[in-house]
Amino acid sequence: MADEVKNEVPAGNFIQDFITEDIAEGGAYEGKKVHTRFPPEPNGYLHIGHAKAICVDFGTAERFGGLCNLRMDDTNPTKEDVEYVDAIKEDIKWLGFDWDDRFFFASEYFEQMYEYAVELIKKGLAYVCELTPDEMRANRGDLSTPAKSPYRDRPVEESLDLFERMKNGEFEDGKMTLRAKIDLSSGNFNMRDPVIYRINHLAHHRTGTKWCIYPMYDFAHPIEDAIEGITHSLCTLEFEDHRPLYDWVIDNITAPCKPRQIEFARLGINNTVMSKRKLRQLVEDGYVAGWDDPRMPTLCGLRRRGYTPASIRNFCERIGVSKTNSVVEYSFLEHCLRDDLNENACRVMCVLDPVKLVITNYPEGKSETFEVENNPQKPEDGTRTITFSRECFIEADDFIEEKVKGYNRFYPGNEVRLKSAYIVKCTGCKKDENGKVIEVYAEYDPLTRGGDTPDGRKVRGTVHWVDAENYLEAEVRLYDNLFTDPEPDTGDKNFLDYINPDSLKIMTDCKIEKSVGEKDAPVYYQFMRLGYFCRDKESTPEKLIFNRSVSLKDGYKKK
Ligand code: ATP
Ligand code: MG
Repeated sequence: MADEVKNEVPAGNFIQDFITEDIAEGGAYEGKKVHTRFPPEPNGYLHIGHAKAICVDFGTAERFGGLCNLRMDDTNPTKEDVEYVDAIKEDIKWLGFDWDDRFFFASEYFEQMYEYAVELIKKGLAYVCELTPDEMRANRGDLSTPAKSPYRDRPVEESLDLFERMKNGEFEDGKMTLRAKIDLSSGNFNMRDPVIYRINHLAHHRTGTKWCIYPMYDFAHPIEDAIEGITHSLCTLEFEDHRPLYDWVIDNITAPCKPRQIEFARLGINNTVMSKRKLRQLVEDGYVAGWDDPRMPTLCGLRRRGYTPASIRNFCERIGVSKTNSVVEYSFLEHCLRDDLNENACRVMCVLDPVKLVITNYPEGKSETFEVENNPQKPEDGTRTITFSRECFIEADDFIEEKVKGYNRFYPGNEVRLKSAYIVKCTGCKKDENGKVIEVYAEYDPLTRGGDTPDGRKVRGTVHWVDAENYLEAEVRLYDNLFTDPEPDTGDKNFLDYINPDSLKIMTDCKIEKSVGEKDAPVYYQFMRLGYFCRDKESTPEKLIFNRSVSLKDGYKKK
């Protein structure tokens, strides 16, 4: 059953339509399972843009009952690192996708790539060129003038010999290249005898010093795809102009299969940057605490911030795939997280900036309990017990000394509901010598247990609170955009000029319900009235730390 090829698939985006057509036409795809790949270069951590590509690559295969490979695109000898390889795997697994045993390194194919290059030379379709990079640039021509190379027609035997000697390390970097012999006057400059191999005397993190020539991406990628039996090579739009070269390579080598490249738009999100190079700079120059800093658009950063796999997959699903690059509002990503957590997060009360509320007519030493629902959206998530006594904490900004129009919380004379507990009437406050409010006073109405008024009188304000006899201390980290400009890296802007100095605010004196300290307590919460929060990876029973994932207020406006 597992090997059965699914022929009927539901209509979806244009990629799925293309694949459906390919399957219907048979030909090269006859009897084949749809087979895609996700090919990250292991030179940084994955970001939300990669999540889109992962969802497209793995998601498309899943949809057709096919397979998707994970391939480290490590043909470039610089910068790669095992730390990145491990992190990439972890992030993809976390998103919920599985490559099974199909995990590859493109560098495993260097030998075959070399053989294919030799095949092209023998067919008269590649030659060793001795123009320096500068000379090559000077000779690339323009739309009305063809490119030139005096080495183009050198004998096959000579190219074969030189290419082998390039491989053997006889020449220094930049001295020679291997170029595909295609069309010097092509309107597509990628086809003007592109370089397919260059000399680079650099050790590779997997093949060591075995190679000192390395294949160029446009030559290597189609071969990697063909070797792995990829049927559909899904990539981003910037490769559209390279597709003729992709096809040329496949058509001119004895490729074991004929993959089809299909391009889709890159994901951009405002108020952030999305290139690995820039993200690395933020980390290395200390603008953030690491790749998984909760302000980063990396998958590990979003995970630490409190994003769930479901919220990210849902986001990728809802933005869809198209052929037009566009920038998605950050608030839409937040909207998708809220959707998930609203449904699934446990509610608790936490006071970030506490001031004490003393209920002066409540007996000293008395304590009572309330049974409250964990999640009103999901009664099946059960209830928990919270306690109430003569003193509790409320937010300092839930009290003002003089009534202001529209303010329904604590001010002398006003009735307020302490969520799930009682209606209390504010009677005043005590201040220190600097005029700072240090205690607020109120009287409770014993007939309002649970927060309902028996006579139906209206109480507008409801505030969250935490029992001052029974609570835990916590640190809470509040985040804002990392950049002050919605497009920090467009045009000639230097994104570092737009770092938001107030993107992290640490609240160290927070009071939270004891339930969050229980063994097996949840990771994700809604702190009532404050937003959605998650337990930070550095949180311990001795020092609780929570990150605000997203506020409650939805900034996303449906267009
Ligand atoms: P960056 O520019 O961030 O360094 P990259 O394209 O160099 O990204 P790769 O590791 O080569 O990063 O990317 C692996 C795959 O992810 C590629 O197929 C690439 O097209 C895709 N990808 C990268 N960034 C985005 C994005 N913003 N939106 C959609 N797909 C992306
Ligand atoms: Mg890349």
